Amino acid sequence: MAKNYYQPEMETMPLEDIQQLQSEKLVKQVKHVYENVKYYRDLMDAKGVKPEDIKGIEDLHKLPFIKKDDLREAYPYGMLATDLNKCVRIHSTSGTTGKRVVAFYTQHDVDMWEECCARAIVAAGGTNDDVCQVAYGYGLFTGGAGLHGGSHKVGCLTLPMSSGNTDRQIQFMMDLNATILCCTPSYAAYIGETLKEKGYKPEDNKLKAGIFGAEPWTEEMRHDIEKNLGIKAYDIYGLTEISGPGMAFECEEQHGMHINEDHFIAEIINPETGEVLPVGEKGELVFTALDKEAFPMMRYRTRDICVLSREKCSCGRSFIRMTKPLGRSDDMMIIRGVNVFPSQIEAVLLNCGYAPNYQIIVDRVNNTDTFDINVEMKEEDFSDIPVGITNREKELQSAMKAMLGINPKIHLVAPKSIARSEGKAVRVIDKRKRLGITI
Ligand code: ADP
Ligand code: ZN
Repeated sequence: MAKNYYQPEMETMPLEDIQQLQSEKLVKQVKHVYENVKYYRDLMDAKGVKPEDIKGIEDLHKLPFIKKDDLREAYPYGMLATDLNKCVRIHSTSGTTGKRVVAFYTQHDVDMWEECCARAIVAAGGTNDDVCQVAYGYGLFTGGAGLHGGSHKVGCLTLPMSSGNTDRQIQFMMDLNATILCCTPSYAAYIGETLKEKGYKPEDNKLKAGIFGAEPWTEEMRHDIEKNLGIKAYDIYGLTEISGPGMAFECEEQHGMHINEDHFIAEIINPETGEVLPVGEKGELVFTALDKEAFPMMRYRTRDICVLSREKCSCGRSFIRMTKPLGRSDDMMIIRGVNVFPSQIEAVLLNCGYAPNYQIIVDRVNNTDTFDINVEMKEEDFSDIPVGITNREKELQSAMKAMLGINPKIHLVAPKSIARSEGKAVRVIDKRKRLGITI
């Protein structure tokens, strides 16, 4: 194998060939969906589009979108395109933003997904000499199963830890010489913190790489984790509705995630109007899965906001790259009329030397939004002298004001007082929801 590729013939295919392949697959897939999924056939009929109208990727924009609400409406079997007896697996979303969605997989679908994860592991330097510790949750969540399958395909020695039981994670990591760690970035940060507490230095572990995703994380958090664990930290992206993690992954450049374009077409749209935007503009990511049998998704609106780039990558992959999602469109808080993303807050905290342990609390009192951020102090900064703390709260407040344009109330709290996450971290508590305010 020339470089860090799992399937070089696909990963380095010239753009024209990729697009040709996408067109051929799209024509077939539209027929498959139209014939087998009544829900989507009705959407196409309502829009006046027939399968024959789709002759290639240039016609993609004619197809109707699928939204998360459609999947909730069609729950559980309404989007199924094959007989249930061809399906071998069910997974479900984490339900981060509402009712869970269930997705079905045939063996072919599982293989395709696991190959995507294998590409991600190999891109992070993984080979059959590696010991791959999978500390994403196993079960309905796609994180554990996806990386587990990918690790097997690469031939790594797989440590199927699942998430949680951090003492045991660390014991096995050290005793069995894990070289690759896969988990959410917030859990990676927690493992790093616990290693330090136990007296381990970054060079005491054998880890060389981490593959972290399933939730938003900032560049600042990446640097923190890399430093604390002594590794290179790679981002990985995916969603259950389309398959799971591995739809996009970082290469050694660590500069945006390559989308597996032989399996998925990515578009960026204006989330308000649905208009397709040119590559390079910021908007909502939309995916069309080209190879799925059981749960085929056409123009699925992810609600993740990001930017795509066709700039050539030094790794040699021709797949388009996506930036880290800047947040979900439904993650965005509107506080006193200003748009605020948790990722902006995290960036300020890490820039100011705090650890990524924080919680944002928004409420509405007397018709005015209140905006509080609890931020944990590091052990070494913790003092009982309230004056010092008040000054530091003020400093942090003005840094936040400069980034966000509005003033939060900062509360520096004791180390370890904010609950750690073994899966996706809960960063925002929006109490306005009890008032029926849906922002
Ligand atoms: P849920 O939407 O209920 O959390 P999933 O477990 O399928 O369900 O999670 C998919 C979502 O997780 C994506 O739509 C995206 O918002 C988020 N996500 C996944 N990977 C990343 C990543 N690397 N960076 C930021 N967000 C991510
Ligand atoms: Zn690359």
